Amino acid sequence: MVKASDDDVKTFTVVIDRGHDDVDRGAIVEDESEFEILYALVAEITGELTSDVNVIYHNPTGVHLSIEERAAQINALKPDLVISIHMGFSNNGPRQAAIVLNDKNMEFAKSKEHASSLITHLTKDAYFSTIRTEVNGTALLEKVNAPAFMLEIGNMNAARDRYYLQTNGSKRVSINFTTFLNDLN
Ligand SMILES: [Zn+2]
Repeated sequence: MVKASDDDVKTFTVVIDRGHDDVDRGAIVEDESEFEILYALVAEITGELTSDVNVIYHNPTGVHLSIEERAAQINALKPDLVISIHMGFSNNGPRQAAIVLNDKNMEFAKSKEHASSLITHLTKDAYFSTIRTEVNGTALLEKVNAPAFMLEIGNMNAARDRYYLQTNGSKRVSINFTTFLNDLN
């Protein structure tokens, strides 16, 4: 067995895409938007990394981009994994979270593998004890040249989820997410 020297360690690049921007703010309920609620959460996730993982928070200021522009900018960063973060919107009440995959993504199997690891980490928070997985045609996931999935964390249509993600939940989700990132590569 050949042991890799430190010089051979390849940095694993994760691009975090916060869906939506300052024009398309996503779901808006009682003057709160998906775009704003996710801002603090995603900023927290991209801190406190200890391992050899390079995490890039794509488009933090929320410049308005088409799906094609968004995908082209992400691909230029040559990611090993792309995670697009949204909130869901349903009548299913609070404590909703889901992973969305697209089977036309060029690395569908690898996408599922990483998604399953993220589920293991995020469900350590009892608030999101169940995370659904669905496969649909979400365009961005098909246009990026890397394993990719979407995380829908919380239900915009449930006041309790919006409150949770802006108080205690923000820290809990970001700690578990950061552990997932530090376990990659
Ligand atoms: Zn969204």
